[in-house]
Amino acid sequence: MELLCKVQTYDWGSRDPNCHVHQLSRKNDPTRAAESITGGKLDRPHAEIWIGTHINGPSVLKENGKLLSEYITENPESVGEKTKEGFGVQLPFLLKVLSVSKPLSIQAHPLKAHAEELHAKFPDIYKDPNHKPEMLITLSKFLMLRGFRPVSDIKNYLQSVPELRDVLGADSADFLASCDSETAQAALKQAYRSLMTASDEKVSHCLNQILSRVSTLDEATRGACLADLLEKLHSHFPGDVGCLSVYFLQDYEMAPGEAAFLPANLIHAYIEGECIELMACSDNVVRGGLTPKLKDVDTLCSMLEYEPADNSANMDVLKLTENCTKYIPHGIKDFSILNIMLKKGDPVTTVVSNGGPTVVLSLGSALYSVDNGPKLTLQQGQALFIKASQTLNLHPDPEQEAIAQVVVAQCNF
Ligand SMILES: [Zn+2]
Repeated sequence: MELLCKVQTYDWGSRDPNCHVHQLSRKNDPTRAAESITGGKLDRPHAEIWIGTHINGPSVLKENGKLLSEYITENPESVGEKTKEGFGVQLPFLLKVLSVSKPLSIQAHPLKAHAEELHAKFPDIYKDPNHKPEMLITLSKFLMLRGFRPVSDIKNYLQSVPELRDVLGADSADFLASCDSETAQAALKQAYRSLMTASDEKVSHCLNQILSRVSTLDEATRGACLADLLEKLHSHFPGDVGCLSVYFLQDYEMAPGEAAFLPANLIHAYIEGECIELMACSDNVVRGGLTPKLKDVDTLCSMLEYEPADNSANMDVLKLTENCTKYIPHGIKDFSILNIMLKKGDPVTTVVSNGGPTVVLSLGSALYSVDNGPKLTLQQGQALFIKASQTLNLHPDPEQEAIAQVVVAQCNF
């Protein structure tokens, strides 16, 4: 069943008419009114397209305008027995495409039990009781902060950026500078909390001092102070404590087609680029900086993992065929993702049902056909919901030279 999908016009989205979210949204629903464009830029930023049933942006069935969530409730067999047992009668995951043109907040997502607690206490802030582990596959060069740096690296930044001492306070700075492997985690936790709870005056004074000093330095010394990254963040969020997080959080520049998994309690911030994102069906975000939205620094600092983790950690990557790669997150059943790249002459790719529902999004410019049920030509921007137990056969179009990309989301059964 074809789906019409919701677009989110958050402030950090892209104004480039060629960005993925705008292009996919136009093609997903050709009847959607054209976006107004001024001076070559979209009037409304295009941040995300959502494929799923979350209440903040639910997809509808193209054939009759019914909510997918309603269809699933009325047809529980469409999600299969395993889904019913594990999650109830619902679609457990939410698929998105993001076009990020300015940094998203520094954030982490709670574990399931913690999400239930936060939702019960603060229902206006944490609007659902679910966890929100996330996986991304990049569609462009993609810059993000993810997890803490090794403590030895943070110690080096305390030396190359001595202004940090003021904002951390002598106690936290000294504890961190002198910690050993036994005390590293406690020292890091204390120092990061000191940073995130420092007064606005201290933070902006510290930022101004660093920025004015690095503006006169040579390239190598600027590199040791992460000057380019600091200036980039500061240009979007002047005076925000999140800018100083660059000295604590590991920055990654991912190439197109790379993947990462973000489990609960892992601190992260997307900075720029475009990606596919798959997550548990939730919108629970605990924010600490780089945002005009509500920050909950106390909750954030208490919940975080203070262990450095590699960008490829916590997931398995299986090359199923020449054209098809599967990404499996560790420790959760909510989702897994297949990334399929098809070109002219490739054999038919079959996506076998795992007993749960399947959601498909076509990203490539080429056409290809789907031959189960009514035969269908799948084009860029089209999204499908496939009932449990149905198999999907993807035939590359023999007329097309371009590579077609299809992402397929399923539960991790
Ligand atoms: Zn996140």
